[in-house]
Amino acid sequence: MSGIERELAMDNLGDSSKYGKVYLVGAGPGDPGLITVRGKNLLERAEVVIYDYLASSALLRYVPKDAELIYAGKKGGGPHRHSQEEINRMLVDSAKSGRTVVRLKGGDPFVFGRGAEEVEELFKEGIFFEVIPGVTSATAAATYAGIPITHRDYTASVAFLTGHEDPKKKNSTIDWHKLATGAGTIVVYMGIKNLPVIVENLVRHGRSGDTPVAIVRWASTPEQKTVVGTLDTICDIAAEEGVRPPSLIIIGDVVSLRSTIDWFERRPLFGKKIVVTRTREQASSLLDGLSEYGANCIECPTISIEKMDSYEPLYNELERLGEYHWIVFSSHNAVDYFFAQLYERDMDARDMKGVSIAVIGTSTAEHLKRYGLVADLVPETFTNEGLADSLLDQGVEGRNILIPRAEKARELLPETLRGAGAQVTIVPVYTNKPPAGRKEELREQLSEGGVDMITFTSSSTVRNFLAMLDAENEKEFKTLLDGVKIAAIGPITSKTVLDNGLSVDIQPEEYTISSMVAAIVNHYSS
Ligand code: SAH
Repeated sequence: MSGIERELAMDNLGDSSKYGKVYLVGAGPGDPGLITVRGKNLLERAEVVIYDYLASSALLRYVPKDAELIYAGKKGGGPHRHSQEEINRMLVDSAKSGRTVVRLKGGDPFVFGRGAEEVEELFKEGIFFEVIPGVTSATAAATYAGIPITHRDYTASVAFLTGHEDPKKKNSTIDWHKLATGAGTIVVYMGIKNLPVIVENLVRHGRSGDTPVAIVRWASTPEQKTVVGTLDTICDIAAEEGVRPPSLIIIGDVVSLRSTIDWFERRPLFGKKIVVTRTREQASSLLDGLSEYGANCIECPTISIEKMDSYEPLYNELERLGEYHWIVFSSHNAVDYFFAQLYERDMDARDMKGVSIAVIGTSTAEHLKRYGLVADLVPETFTNEGLADSLLDQGVEGRNILIPRAEKARELLPETLRGAGAQVTIVPVYTNKPPAGRKEELREQLSEGGVDMITFTSSSTVRNFLAMLDAENEKEFKTLLDGVKIAAIGPITSKTVLDNGLSVDIQPEEYTISSMVAAIVNHYSS
């Protein structure tokens, strides 16, 4: 920037108070857990987020729903979707609209990230900015491949370079002669395309052909892949293994330490792609448990909870709420959807006075407290059977009982109560259907053959998953699920799997999520 440009920029600062601030945030190498606390806090209050291909899209879940998300395009292997000038312009325009802008960049914004060019532009325009560093992919790739980039016994220096520029070009900015033996460890960003020339340059300038080399692709993610060789062999190995960007090349004696230090790829479920079907809350604990052991989990909701098209039937019952002796809730959803409509009718908890409330378990009872109500009856066993028995113990003959629940549900409870002489009214307050639009995606994943296992934690996850696949017949299911292992949480779920003509590979002894995780780990470790 010239002196005059700088002066103009300083003049512009007069307008800055109206502008939003721009935060250049390092997203880290790929694992969304590797962003800084500061970076995450900024995402949580961003109004515009401009993000790159290499910034983990999982980080976007921190962004407020009403924020504008702009994808800046692909780097490395593919064509850039927006030119750097366009990105600079978007940053400037977004800030000038007075909004808080987060520019989310892979790794560290100032390590081969063109971050400096972006903030220079902001400076010229008199826009305030801040830069938040990130874990750069070179150190992350090394660490996640079990390679310490420095080590007292091996090397005291490390160099980061870009392999993007053609090493044959006349005025190369990289002094291969000095680098080849000048730095103990060399880490090359963006070097896959030029790998043969990089290797040739290093050897020609004196680096030994036996120097160990590792190439790490998609470092720190479940897709991480590492190949190892020497300067003499790595080109052939990389070609054989079909190594592609984004990858880092790590060159130096420290690479040999991988044989003892590799911890990430050695985890028992590393490289296993597991579809985790879920209904509600339980899913995330199973997913977290399996991920902890290195599994690449694909979350697959099998139920989509939605509002009813009409609440007329419920409204009719709300008019005569006082005539009911009992109201029964067998899920959090039933409670939530019931109260949403109660409020919709300008009613509240006071209108429930005099009606006793039964719930299916302590968790639903706790949930009910949020609406200012304490359950009168919680069964000892938290099942529909348990709930029916406890109500029968109270004596239900001639009692009016209201059950707000899912549109499709088991009839056991109302039938048992009716059998004992109760007047039972069922009102659907929500529906649960297989989520739309997942069929193609699921079939594609399965037919690509990449899925190792599917987990089922209830009979409805089995039924809904198969309904989502929408196969013509049993034979087609079998073809789709050929070679895919099935884990079921307990005997009832297993029976549903078997009833559908499939087989069960894993069923833990105890019907809990942690035993399920342990059984899966065991299965792959033995
Ligand atoms: N600012 C980024 C680097 C951007 S340059 C950083 O600090 O990491 C893009 C190059 O980074 C890719 O071509 C690749 O060499 C490397 N890279 C980024 N993320 C990577 C990952 N998860 N695994 C391997 N290489 C990665």
